[in-house]
Amino acid sequence: MGKWLNKTLKPTDSAESKNHADLEDLARLVEGTLDSAKRKRLIHHLNRCGQCYEILQETLKDVSTETSGKPAPTAWWKRKSVYALAASIIMIFIIGGQLVFKYRSQPSPVISAKLTIDQELKDILLEDNALQWKNVERIERLISALHKKGLPVIQFNLVVLSKPYYQTKSLFGPEEILHIRIENNVAYLEVKEIQ
Ligand SMILES: [Zn+2]
Repeated sequence: MGKWLNKTLKPTDSAESKNHADLEDLARLVEGTLDSAKRKRLIHHLNRCGQCYEILQETLKDVSTETSGKPAPTAWWKRKSVYALAASIIMIFIIGGQLVFKYRSQPSPVISAKLTIDQELKDILLEDNALQWKNVERIERLISALHKKGLPVIQFNLVVLSKPYYQTKSLFGPEEILHIRIENNVAYLEVKEIQ
């Protein structure tokens, strides 16, 4: 376990840098002995900091070689917890944001995503009630809004809405989710309410 402590963090200017994971905490996270508040904070940071995530991966590697190298009969649970942790971190990477997207590259690239509609998206949607948008400036604004929400670099030159979008009357109306599918340079949008 001592060898984890020998690893040093590279200096960085990023705003997250002062929150860098403590190596001992990382080790405890892997062992499953970190308390839940610290665990949450650490995983939150790991989702944002490539540097610490790399160190965690190294730590996971260390643990799996350590455990697989040992013939000890108790080794299996350690290994199991390592994979469970790795899986939970990957899950958090995927569900941590409000955005879930799939990328399929065969036969033609299709991106589908769901995201919560915020004021920026609302403004773009409410601009007029046409079901097809060809206005380059409006499409550019939608693309940039999607980029900001974490969608990978995408391009489309036509937007097709499944039905006209109207402002919900109540301030406390149901939450709205934008379903988006991008295929052959066309973005298909559908707004669904969460009950
Ligand atoms: Zn960090």
